[in-house]
Amino acid sequence: MAQKTADRPGGGKNGLSGTGAALHGLMERLYPICRSITGDGVRQTLEILQEHIPVEIREVPSGTRVFDWTVPDEWNVRGAYIRDSAGRKVVDFADSNLHVVNYSIPVHRKMQLAELKKHLHTLPDHPHWIPYRTAYYNRTWGFCLPHALYERLADDTYEVCIDSDLKPGHLSYGELYLPGETEQEVLVSTHLCHPSLANDNLSGLALATFLARHVRSAGRRYSYRFLFVPATIGAITWLSLNRDRTDRISHGLVVACAGDPGGFTYKKSRRGTAEIDRIVSHVLRHQPTPHRIIDFFPYGYDERQYCSCGFDLPVGCFMRSPHGEYVQYHTSADDLDFVRPWCLEESFAVLVSVLEVVEQNRILLNRYPHCEPQLGKRNLYPREREQHLAILWVLNLADGRHSLLDIAERSNLPFHHIADAAGKLLAGGLLAEQDDLAVS
Ligand code: ZN
Repeated sequence: MAQKTADRPGGGKNGLSGTGAALHGLMERLYPICRSITGDGVRQTLEILQEHIPVEIREVPSGTRVFDWTVPDEWNVRGAYIRDSAGRKVVDFADSNLHVVNYSIPVHRKMQLAELKKHLHTLPDHPHWIPYRTAYYNRTWGFCLPHALYERLADDTYEVCIDSDLKPGHLSYGELYLPGETEQEVLVSTHLCHPSLANDNLSGLALATFLARHVRSAGRRYSYRFLFVPATIGAITWLSLNRDRTDRISHGLVVACAGDPGGFTYKKSRRGTAEIDRIVSHVLRHQPTPHRIIDFFPYGYDERQYCSCGFDLPVGCFMRSPHGEYVQYHTSADDLDFVRPWCLEESFAVLVSVLEVVEQNRILLNRYPHCEPQLGKRNLYPREREQHLAILWVLNLADGRHSLLDIAERSNLPFHHIADAAGKLLAGGLLAEQDDLAVS
């Protein structure tokens, strides 16, 4: 079911602080590149991300066994066209990289229209859009084109050419590790294998890049790992190569389809009650854009791999309109106009808030648990009712069994109010860190 579209607060189209425009600007640079699950398009993309963050490019040779899969041969394409007998290119890869079925084997021959049609893909319901099709794991070739153009193709002899390579090489992916005070990790993963498609998933690439830059610039308790991987095979490859360290992942998010004007969608981890599930739900509940929380199901993006039963990691998926629920999905209409700067900016703000809760959530202890301590004599008596309420809730529930998130949920106050109150009480000596008391 399609969900309500978010209205931009205050209307208008300009970025709120410039972040939205910057996110969109990064997408504009990445958009023309022909990406796939392997190949130079992936490397070029990661090199552009390196202008923003020191992401490392990892190369895994074709043929490497990764669980039940094998890293495939590397695919690169230089050009492709269909030419009619008059010498006119009726379809040209130079116009759109979506014209070639991604991972097409090389071909160069002449054929009649009837035979050519077996290799053509269109969208009759949207006759001016080009579909996005892939042929990763079966060796074939094809072209995608607007149905309106397909219907105009005359009975003729056509020259078809796909100037591509499919041969042993590498699978490339990007990894950025940012160490924190603890080895426990927050994982942010996004797929980078789609060619000129914007929401799925240049929006995820841009948001994860800016989030990494944000995390880098701030102090942090957790260590962070940002993964930019080709969908499915990339996540499987990373999990296979890092199998013995996945127990460090305390919280994880897959970011995808997060730049369109639909409301937010959060797909919970397989566990359903992981801290990250509660945190994202809490943050979404306390912001104005429509949202929904959905349960895990084993279809979608790389949360499928992170949440496979052998790993069962606490990894959810953050989206706006989910895959398959907007008509532009996997077509040329998922373009730079479909993704809005203000939507990117809103998504970024939510993700930043989520990480703030991840960083700040912990258990604090009330040092004066018998009756309320006297706030006035410590200059802690707040003027505003909501602040007062937050302080009273924290004091009441800081019994060693409730985290700050528990307190925020029980009080129905936004986490940052609870965290602010806790900070003041901590500074005023009324609260103690759990670890401090354990030592003393
Ligand atoms: Zn996709």
